[in-house]
Amino acid sequence: MYWEKDIETLPREKLEAVQLERLKSTLQRAAKSAHYGSVFKEKGFDPAKFNALHDVRHIPLTTKEDLRASWPYGFLAVSKDELVRMHSSTGTTGRATVIFHTANDVSEWTNLVARCMYMAGVRKGDVFQNMMTYGLFTGGLGFHYGAEKIGALVIPAGAGNSKRQIQLMRDFETTVIHIIPSYALHLYTVFEEVGLDPKKDTKLKIAFVGAEPHSEKTRKRIEEFYGIKAYNSYGLSEMNGPGVAFECPCQTGLHIWEDNFIVEIINPDTLEPLPDGEEGELVMTTLLREGMPILRYRTKDLTRIVPGACECGRTHRRIDRIKGRTDDMLIIKGVNIFPIQVEKKLMEIPGVGTDYVIILEREGFNDVMIVKAEVQKEFFDGDLFHLEALQKRIVEALKSDILITPKVDLVAPGSLPKTEGKAVRVIDNRKE
Ligand code: AMP
Ligand code: ZN
Repeated sequence: MYWEKDIETLPREKLEAVQLERLKSTLQRAAKSAHYGSVFKEKGFDPAKFNALHDVRHIPLTTKEDLRASWPYGFLAVSKDELVRMHSSTGTTGRATVIFHTANDVSEWTNLVARCMYMAGVRKGDVFQNMMTYGLFTGGLGFHYGAEKIGALVIPAGAGNSKRQIQLMRDFETTVIHIIPSYALHLYTVFEEVGLDPKKDTKLKIAFVGAEPHSEKTRKRIEEFYGIKAYNSYGLSEMNGPGVAFECPCQTGLHIWEDNFIVEIINPDTLEPLPDGEEGELVMTTLLREGMPILRYRTKDLTRIVPGACECGRTHRRIDRIKGRTDDMLIIKGVNIFPIQVEKKLMEIPGVGTDYVIILEREGFNDVMIVKAEVQKEFFDGDLFHLEALQKRIVEALKSDILITPKVDLVAPGSLPKTEGKAVRVIDNRKE
């Protein structure tokens, strides 16, 4: 049943012993990099003296700004000729951060992705269509190698070109896809447009959806539209990319692979560690990285550790669905809102289509929130009266949840601009 049963179900004490050994050697390796070499010296941190897992909290934190300040080679713990691969983050603000891998790093990463895919049921004989951008973004090559390791037939379709994606799926009987959730919803509208039903006209069984925040309701919609199981896949380039945390068939959180990473949740303001169950910022440390070890990386992603053991028997702890990033939080009229809260409400309402965008404007001294939402075809072509009722319903639903009365603008299905990568959910025109 398991890809790596012994590791995945390792009793906690043994798992923690593995972590400690790996962390000790990671600290020694990290000390060789220009960045940690000088940080350790400055903070008086001696890696040779580190001897207890609970002392992790005393290791200096690392931020995206640190990675930028040491761009491009300041985090390297090996000589450049040991490196075989470079990737980068997809951030839209500031300089993208780059991550370098040795051959062993790529191989360990591949193992993790294979472990995740196998956990969700992918086997040799499956046909895997990877609809992520290939290139610097990790979602393309990361999944590609993992699927090949399992022995699946990989179709490196890349992102976009929806009609061709559907054609490939049908011609080669694709059983597994990897897709950005917003694109999965959009692709369904293209199926409708060409008069096909993915439930009947494809052999799809499993989708891996990730790379951007999405609500449980969005997952359910994807599962219903395609007649498949959709598994949440979480990762970030600084921790390899995909393969960091994945849902098992129980779908009660994402197992985060603790033989490869130390996981902490901290209070983003006080930087103090939080107990399991409490929501805060996810902080991660690589345990096997050779090329570029990263210690206590502040992911900016908000989540919590799901307390207790998972029914599947795996002992690695689970994180909850990501609520958003600390830097995604919108402050509108003094109220803190995450875009995912808007999505959650929208996707609950029948008649709302598959795409939306939040636009923020300043009128005089007032913040105005405009939610543009695509409407399902039947609604859009139907009675104006129904459209108005839908609009009212959305305003009421959002008002009761986020305490702000938005303007709601209903638009035709497929009319909002689409991106090939992560969806743009917020346009903030309030900044000068
Ligand atoms: P990148 O390093 O450019 O691939 O971006 C990684 C970031 O994408 C993460 O830090 C998260 O903010 C976001 N992300 C990736 N996977 C998910 C997911 N399954 N759910 C929510 N956000 C995600
Ligand atoms: Zn599980």
